[in-house]
Amino acid sequence: MVIGVVLAGLLLAPDFRVCIDPGHPSELNDGFGVSNGLTETAVNWKVSVLLKKQLERMGGFAITFTKSSEKQLVKNRERAEIANRFNADLFLRIHADAVPQSGFTIFYPKAQGKAQGKVGPSRQVIERSGRLAAAFHAAMAAELKGVLPDRGVKGDIESNIGSKQGALTGSIFSTVPVMLVEMCSLTNKHDADWIRQPVNQQKMALALAKGCAAARDAAISRATQRLGGR
Ligand SMILES: [Zn+2]
Repeated sequence: MVIGVVLAGLLLAPDFRVCIDPGHPSELNDGFGVSNGLTETAVNWKVSVLLKKQLERMGGFAITFTKSSEKQLVKNRERAEIANRFNADLFLRIHADAVPQSGFTIFYPKAQGKAQGKVGPSRQVIERSGRLAAAFHAAMAAELKGVLPDRGVKGDIESNIGSKQGALTGSIFSTVPVMLVEMCSLTNKHDADWIRQPVNQQKMALALAKGCAAARDAAISRATQRLGGR
């Protein structure tokens, strides 16, 4: 019965709206610095484009981008405002780290922060972001098992900017569920050599797409539970 309700929810559900945010250039960092022969802006853009194609192949997603070309400057607040206007079910921020450790990390707002005089995000966005980030993380980790180390799901506050503001600027201004993926670390030679390969960029895009599908299923099962009065 529960399965039937969930299936009905899947069949009736409208497209899951994903706002893909290829990180940088922003007001803080152009992302043009070279690590192991790669720039973060270029890696983020390449994988984001592959992710869009992958989601289109899978079907059931409505997709927008926060920018229309690799080197376009978009401030972090504006990125959130684009996701808000799109009424995204998931504002997915694609980044690559610059830490010694190998692996991927997911950040989401576990608490409110303050930037440019604004306190946010709302309690509801915090709660929904946490649920979607957990589902996304499990699917991504399963896909990358034995390929890249899983560095876990963390609060924004554990990120560099988040530790100063309480949350990332893109989270503070978001009125929709938001999470940021650090796909790997470009300053780690193993990771840089891995993501440099087009086949691995595609592998990363597939892992992110499976994360989106898991987030969609988590959002739908929550909605059908509400409809069922559970
Ligand atoms: Zn970044």
